[in-house]
Amino acid sequence: MVIIMEHDATKPQIDDIINKLQDLGFNIHQSTGIDHTLLGVIGDVSKIDPRDMQVLPGVADAYRISAPYKLVSREFQHKNTIIDIKGVKIGGDEVAVMAGPCSIESKEQMMTIAEIVSNAGAKFLRGGAFKPRTSPYAFQGLGEQGLKIIREAADKFNMLVITEVMDKEQISLVSEHTDIIQIGARNIQNFTLIRALGSIDKPIFLKRGISSTIEEWLMSAEYILSGGNRNVMLCERGIRTFETYTRNTMDLSAIPIVHKLSHLPIIADPSHGTGLRDKVIPMARAAVAAGADGLMIEVHHDPEHAMSDGAQSLLPDQFVDLMKQIREIAKVIGRTIADARV
Ligand code: PEP
Ligand code: MN
Repeated sequence: MVIIMEHDATKPQIDDIINKLQDLGFNIHQSTGIDHTLLGVIGDVSKIDPRDMQVLPGVADAYRISAPYKLVSREFQHKNTIIDIKGVKIGGDEVAVMAGPCSIESKEQMMTIAEIVSNAGAKFLRGGAFKPRTSPYAFQGLGEQGLKIIREAADKFNMLVITEVMDKEQISLVSEHTDIIQIGARNIQNFTLIRALGSIDKPIFLKRGISSTIEEWLMSAEYILSGGNRNVMLCERGIRTFETYTRNTMDLSAIPIVHKLSHLPIIADPSHGTGLRDKVIPMARAAVAAGADGLMIEVHHDPEHAMSDGAQSLLPDQFVDLMKQIREIAKVIGRTIADARV
C-alpha cells in the first residue's frame, strides 16, 4: 500500500502514521520528495482498508498496489486452470459451448432442445430448475422435477448438465443431478452461499454480478477457492450501465482483463449480456475472438412460448449457424470447438 501525504503535512502527522503502522507489524519505507512524502507500507496489507488511511490527518491519498485476492490471481498460479468434468475440459484449447433454454419447462422441451444443441456440437446442456425472477408472479422453475428432466435429457444426448443453485439449502439436491453448479448474477455476493460452495466437490460457474466490478467478482471467486474448491469458472453476462437499448451491457473487455488477472477460465453469456436475439450471434462471435474459454447460449425451439427469456433465445437454425461461424473464428486464434454430430 502507498500512502501519499499532503504537501503541507507536518512531521508529527507523518510520524503518527508511521508509528501506528509499525505497531501493527508493518515496515514503512519513507520517501521524501519536493512536494510530497510517500509512505510505502510493506507486509500483508489485505486486512487494512485504504479508506482508513485516507481519513487520517495529513493524508492526501492511499491505495493498494497489490490485488486483494490471492488464490484466484495469476501471480499465485501462472498456468491456466483447466477444469476436467468427466473428461471434458474447460479452460484448455477447446472453447466449451453450453446451450439450452433459460428454464426447464417440460421433458419434451428439454429433449427437443438437447437434441438440437448436441447435434450442433454443444457439450453442456443448460436450463434452470430454480429461477431467480424479478417478479414473484413469474414462472419460478420446476424445481426437483426439472433437475430430473435436464439430467435425463443430457444423459440421452451424451451431454453434461449445468444448472443454477439459488440457495445454500439447494446445494445437495442440485448436486445430485448436475455436473456444474451455476451461481447467478443476483447471488454472487450472497456470502453464506458462496462460502458453502468452497467445501463441495463440484465445479462452480460464477456469473458476474449485475453491478459487480471485476475486482468484486474475483473476490467472490476467492471465497470459493479459499474454502478449498479450486474448480471455479467465471462468466461475463453483461452489467448494468446507463444504456437502455440492450438489457445489459456486455463487457467484452472483461475477457482479456480476467485472463490477465486470473488463471480461472472465463465464459461469455451474450444471451443475458444483450437480452436481444439478434445481438447474441455478433457478441458470441466477438467473445470467442476475444479469447473466451466458453460460451453460454440460450436456445429455444419455440421462443415465442418460452416461460422465460424467449426474446434472447436463439432459434435452432441460428444456433447451428453460430456454431459453424465460431469454429472458424476459434481456428484463427489457435483454439477448437467440438464438431457437429450430424
Ligand atoms: C440464467 O442463466 O438464466 C440467468 C438467470 O442468468 P443471470 O444470473 O446471469 O441473470
Ligand atoms: Mn435466462
